[in-house]
Amino acid sequence: MKKSKSLSRREFVKQSSIASITAMLAGGASNVVMANGITGVQRPAILGGKPAWDPIKWPKWPQWNSETDDKQVLEVLKSGVWSRAGVVTEFEKKWAEAVGAQRCLSVVNGTNALIVALNQLHVGGGDEVIVPPYTFISTVSSILANGAIPVFVDVDPKTFQMDPAKIEAQITPRTKAIMVVHILGLPSDMNAIMAIAKKHKLLVVEDACQAHLAEYNHQKVGTFGDAGCFSFQNSKNLPIGEGGAIVSNNNEFMDRCYSYHNLGTPYGTAVGAVGTGSIMYNTKVRFTEYQAAIGLAQLKRLDAETTTRNVNAEYLKSQIKDIPGIAPYELYKNVTRGAFHLFAFRYKKEAFKNLSRAGFLKAMRAEGVPCTSGYIPLNTQPFLKDTFATNNFKKMYPKEMLDINKYNERNKCPLTEKLCGEEAVWFTQNMLLGSKQDMAAIAGALEKVYKNAEMIKRQEQ
Ligand SMILES: *Cc1c(COP(=O)(O)O)cnc(C)c1O
Repeated sequence: MKKSKSLSRREFVKQSSIASITAMLAGGASNVVMANGITGVQRPAILGGKPAWDPIKWPKWPQWNSETDDKQVLEVLKSGVWSRAGVVTEFEKKWAEAVGAQRCLSVVNGTNALIVALNQLHVGGGDEVIVPPYTFISTVSSILANGAIPVFVDVDPKTFQMDPAKIEAQITPRTKAIMVVHILGLPSDMNAIMAIAKKHKLLVVEDACQAHLAEYNHQKVGTFGDAGCFSFQNSKNLPIGEGGAIVSNNNEFMDRCYSYHNLGTPYGTAVGAVGTGSIMYNTKVRFTEYQAAIGLAQLKRLDAETTTRNVNAEYLKSQIKDIPGIAPYELYKNVTRGAFHLFAFRYKKEAFKNLSRAGFLKAMRAEGVPCTSGYIPLNTQPFLKDTFATNNFKKMYPKEMLDINKYNERNKCPLTEKLCGEEAVWFTQNMLLGSKQDMAAIAGALEKVYKNAEMIKRQEQ
């Protein structure tokens, strides 16, 4: 934000609102939970009061600055070299550096990063892969796409991450890998998970599709396991529209991933005789030069944005953690940096006069604070039964393994179900790029809804 330029209308509106919010906070109208209920509190927007914040002012996503970002993208466009070449290689080198991995291979999206990584770790038919049910569909579909069966481990609702204490009970002789998901962009408990993997000789694939630059013990996530996978889809913290990457320190594995993603043509240690064509079973999921050019522009702002999200998330958490019925995410003690793709908390309606979560979300949105309830549990979705009914699966597994009732029984995750069905509330990462006043406004809206919960609930009925 350049102070020298005259203020645009939006900036002017924003600054004026900051002034009014600051005045409101100074007046004490909204920053402490009052013992005497709703007196002295502003009317909630859903009941006709003034919204705590105007939604138009949340930071836009994705960010783009023509002055600094257009040049390389236009050069690529004008060059006519659009298929994989030097710019993709440069992006891969920079992403490997950013996360502290030796190698990086970019692919079309995060979904295919997961599919390729599992495939080249030779996870396939007859295998089981341990995975949390609280994640994006691709985590689980990448396992099924390779012919393996997902085995679910419930989450710890405090952290929203797969609970390491529940992993061992799900391990069988078929278990080949643990798929760790750093959900919300917050690191899972890697010390515990890596110890279990080591003990049982299991592969570890990290779904870090939401966790760009997140750290555990000062080490970037995606670099703990045998492979780390990232997404650059438009909503992600490093947005390219579509895009994905695999990182690893295993040269032989990365050479095979390259070969596999490029029609099976020889690459590095994945060698073929001169003049021979494809050397392995393969697909084609190559990244393009213009995607890489967009990625390089986005990469320049990622670190600073990540710092802002961390600062704002911590501040917001401090402002809302004492509101009864609001339980913000908790971090494992070894987490040294979050990516905060999402800011999540658990909503306990008992503390809000039994106002439903849907009613709470509606009231918050009316205050100008966008929020959602997030995921549905993946362990109970119809795509599993459908996959088990395919000819491929019927040929690969004994009948009783594909019995959906037995499968459901084995894969119960009651804590995830409660989280998804009743408690989880999300704010998206772009909101965390706002100002401290923006965070105060979110906290103010939460308090307003808390104090008026009774009235809001009555009006809902
Ligand atoms: C986004 C995402 C993916 C898939 O990435 P795409 O680039 O959208 O294919 C996988 N896992 C998680 C946890 C994600 O958030």
